[in-house]
Amino acid sequence: MEILHVSAECYPVAKAGGLGDVVGALPKYMNALGHSARVVMPMYRTKFLYANTWDVVHKGYTNMGNWWFEFTVIKEKTDNLGFELYLVDVNGLLDREKVYGYNDDTERFAAFQISVCDWLNSWSKLPDIIHVHDHHTGLIPFMVKHCPKYRKLAQTKTVLTIHNAQYQGIMGWNRSILIPQWDMWKWGMLDWNNAINPLASAVKCADKVTTVSPSYLQELKYMSNGLEALFEYEKGKCVGILNGIDDKVWDPQNDTYLQHHFSVDDLEAGKAKNKMLLCDQFNLDFDKPLIGFIGRLVGEKGADLLPQSISDSFYFLGRRMNFLVLGSGFPEVEAGLSALKPLSQFDYNIYIGYNEALSHMMYAGLDFLLMPSRVEPCGLNQMYSMRYGTVPMVRRTGGLKDTVIDYGDVDGYGICYNQASVADITHAVWRATQTYHNKEKLHTIRQRMMNLDFSWETSVKHYIDVYSSLVI
Ligand code: ADP
Repeated sequence: MEILHVSAECYPVAKAGGLGDVVGALPKYMNALGHSARVVMPMYRTKFLYANTWDVVHKGYTNMGNWWFEFTVIKEKTDNLGFELYLVDVNGLLDREKVYGYNDDTERFAAFQISVCDWLNSWSKLPDIIHVHDHHTGLIPFMVKHCPKYRKLAQTKTVLTIHNAQYQGIMGWNRSILIPQWDMWKWGMLDWNNAINPLASAVKCADKVTTVSPSYLQELKYMSNGLEALFEYEKGKCVGILNGIDDKVWDPQNDTYLQHHFSVDDLEAGKAKNKMLLCDQFNLDFDKPLIGFIGRLVGEKGADLLPQSISDSFYFLGRRMNFLVLGSGFPEVEAGLSALKPLSQFDYNIYIGYNEALSHMMYAGLDFLLMPSRVEPCGLNQMYSMRYGTVPMVRRTGGLKDTVIDYGDVDGYGICYNQASVADITHAVWRATQTYHNKEKLHTIRQRMMNLDFSWETSVKHYIDVYSSLVI
């Protein structure tokens, strides 16, 4: 089958979160099964762009409303990612360093989507599936079905994967000019609550919709930032497929970011060496359990609860543990976490920013990884941490519920709690501290986690089943 993934992120080209990891891995595993999966994404000005060589494969001239622009599609020459990678360049809009966060993001992603559809219009043999990811590419299912300009693409099946329904790309109707001409009576396929909602439109127009875990799909029906009724209505075409992890990139035996590699056979020694590096670098006490947090410092991740939870843990449980935080996000949360730093007694530190290398070192060197998420569509961190023998401390929600079993349950290995609250987190910290000192139990849990299989091989087959249901 021929599949074209259209995405705003793809690791290692450009990544801001889990979307990048998934789009960087999924096509590789699809190709390993004998399919032909490619990726097209915007040509940001990233390191990857300058470090690789490219062929120009298409040049086009098109319009977004009354603004006419040129776009260029380039292809990476060697396919060294395990799939064909195409980048779309629109000067003035996509030629930026960061993926998101600009005032004209709406125009940027609209221009990207128009360029992709125009480019597809020029293909002699169309792909079987156009697979779009999240709201940044959510207008494509509407455009291919309802814009006369793309009539040639109208029979091509479209699949939407929702990595995060909190963000929907909502824009006022005054922006409808950004979408290539369409029949006005189809406005309902773009609209949600009197605005153009690209994510809602994709749910309506795509032939199939997938979410990145089965539990998240159920949750969307009662908690999806205003789209609850839509998910209930469209449930017939929605499927929850758990993400996998790229076990070649995330492998404690070969991870290029690690100085000390290890496997399940020498996990205690391996983890100790990695922990020592972190403790040296961040002034932490090696003898105490090391609890970490990696991620965006936003409410969705429960990061606003961290400052109080860390203070309460020190106050109520004694200074018997270390905390290390890696992330960036809301300034208030960053400030709250930074304010704890001067109070550290060799047991707390924070790195504000994005640091891929440090994240790998933390998965390897931490004893526990805290994830008090309010919303977690799938969550990759807990799967990475388990592969590196680090015990996840997760709130039972979305993909966390689907991947972590509490160690108190049969064959369990994690620490689970129900509420995203300071009390539940502090209680989980207490359980972590108790577990840490029971070395035999901790070793059994670590072994159990490292033997779990979260690889893409299984998940990819579910995606292929979804495609097959549309194409055959
Ligand atoms: P998200 O909702 O942010 O997409 P996921 O759990 O799906 O959450 O994916 C998060 C990914 O981003 C993981 O690979 C994680 O290691 C990485 N990540 C998040 N924040 C940082 C950071 N500050 N530095 C390095 N990696 C980070």
